[in-house]
Amino acid sequence: MINTQVTHLSANILIVDDKPINLKVLSTILTKQGYKVRAVISGEMAITAAQTIPPDLILLDIKIPDIDGYEVCQQLKQHPATCHIPVIFLSALHDIANKVKAFQVGGVDFITKPFQLEEVLARVSTHLALKEARYQLQQLNLELEERVKQRTSDLEVAQKQLNYETFHDNLTQLPNRLLFLERVEGARKRNQEEETYLFAVLLLDLDRFKVINESDGHAVGDLLLIAVSRKLETLVGPTDTVARLGGDEFAILLDPIDDVNEALRMTQQIKTALTSKFPLQERSVFTSSSIGLALSLPTYQSAEEILRDADIAMSRAKQQGKGRYEIFNQQMHFQALQLLELETDLQHAIERQEFQVYYQPIMDLHQIKLVGFEALIRWPHPTKGYISPGKFIPVAEDTGLIIPIGQIVLNHVSSQIKTWQKQFPRTTVLKIGINLSSQQLKDPEIIKQIDRILEKNGLTSENLKVEITETLLVENTNFAAVLLRQLKERQIKICLDDFGTGYSSLSYLHQFPVDTLKIDQSFVNCIGKPEEKSEIIQSIITLAHNLGMDVVAEGIETQEQLTYLQSLQCDYGQGYFFNRPLSPEDVVKLLS
Ligand code: C2E
Ligand code: MG
Ligand code: MG
Repeated sequence: MINTQVTHLSANILIVDDKPINLKVLSTILTKQGYKVRAVISGEMAITAAQTIPPDLILLDIKIPDIDGYEVCQQLKQHPATCHIPVIFLSALHDIANKVKAFQVGGVDFITKPFQLEEVLARVSTHLALKEARYQLQQLNLELEERVKQRTSDLEVAQKQLNYETFHDNLTQLPNRLLFLERVEGARKRNQEEETYLFAVLLLDLDRFKVINESDGHAVGDLLLIAVSRKLETLVGPTDTVARLGGDEFAILLDPIDDVNEALRMTQQIKTALTSKFPLQERSVFTSSSIGLALSLPTYQSAEEILRDADIAMSRAKQQGKGRYEIFNQQMHFQALQLLELETDLQHAIERQEFQVYYQPIMDLHQIKLVGFEALIRWPHPTKGYISPGKFIPVAEDTGLIIPIGQIVLNHVSSQIKTWQKQFPRTTVLKIGINLSSQQLKDPEIIKQIDRILEKNGLTSENLKVEITETLLVENTNFAAVLLRQLKERQIKICLDDFGTGYSSLSYLHQFPVDTLKIDQSFVNCIGKPEEKSEIIQSIITLAHNLGMDVVAEGIETQEQLTYLQSLQCDYGQGYFFNRPLSPEDVVKLLS
């Protein structure tokens, strides 16, 4: 606290009295006490002196020549600079009316003449102390007010910041989901009131963001998101909204639009602008985006519904091969619902152990002899019949349910091998191929799981072969190399499934310890047909043999296909020509 106040002992006192003797006595005694004293003999002088240097206290006689003490006091009280000075009246007028008047005009005390010096000193000292206390109180109040003001303005700043953060994305400073939904809701309401008021919602997702984030690091990922944000802002109009909903997902509200064509034109422009190189730090990152478009309809009940439909359309764009846009329609909604239902059903199927495993025999094509099986999952749905793995495995992969499902298959297969080993001790063909999808292989627990299951059933790696697809090898080369080596250390054989359909970048093949190439059935299918792909089959077989791998042909259905494959020295084969995938009971019959 600032303390400019003098202690009352060095206080400044003004004495007003027309009797020189009074002035002298008072001056002497007060000066002795350490007070600074000024003395005047008239009312006018008193006012001038008080206004020039305001004293800390005034001793004021009432009967003075020019203007009387009451009048002096009244004038001082009217002036801001002098109104706070305590005035003690000194007077020989001692009737009550005079004393009361002294207080009415603003005096703080009244001393009757002839005065006692002790009394004067005591009253002076008391009033100076009171004045000081009042002053201190006033200071405290001021300080408090100042603090309250400061606090209020701090709070206002914090509130503003909080408001901003609630509605904006930290990284890109774009509006977030909350603010976006609010704006869409505004547009939706307007569209319901005015049929001709149209708007559109775009949802877009960067296609390769995850790969960029993983391979180039999160810092580069962040820079890309910021660059994309700035780019998007330049593409839209002043009344449109660009928002980041999270991750690599952005949303745009085109509000308003003249017609559907405008929305399409904008979408195309945005897609083109994002299919480009973004210069980040010292290099460029290439991106493309998948966009879903939902157009305003008076039937929409909430902003969330519109966003949901744009999301469905975006998923469709991704499924259709990325780098494109799709416009939402009702058919999509229906399919999305079905997909959701399938997901829920899959969850139940896991809980209720609805899955079975069938086994398709794999034959030696030269001796036409059984050499092993491929395990294939089967799902007899309680109400919808058998659902094909081609339909539910991709969903399981998208939702992560493939991990528990894969475990179920692994358990089924290994306990099945154990049972059959006991039943048929002399058979040597119990090598079973298990399909593992990329998601399963990326699960850090997978190797441990395989170890545990083999050990639990007392099996050796002799009995197990894993079938993987090229996707893993191409997308995650380093990781795949480590994983395959771990499998190899356990002497588990590795088969590359569906070979020829994916990237088929033959150059990478020799880097991986693959034992078998499985030619995809689409090639086998073509044997004997006009668009013959036999040359491809021939080169796959030659390549495999040169790299020390053997070859399985998948989907053999006819004698003609078999003969042809035999002529190309294809080692093994499977297909309806020999057997369909068999239930465990049918396998027992076969082995018997
Ligand atoms: P895939 O691994 O390439 O399996 C071969 C598919 O071809 C199987 O279909 C099999 O029933 C079918 N097939 C066999 N011979 C013939 C034939 O002569 N003609 C025709 N038209 N088809 C034949 P399925 O069982 O429907 O499985 C489809 C795909 O689902 C599999 O392809 C595999 O990628 C996946 N899958 C199946 N079971 C599992 C599993 O347990 N785990 C994982 N991760 N994926 C699985
Ligand atoms: Mg397979
Ligand atoms: Mg296959």
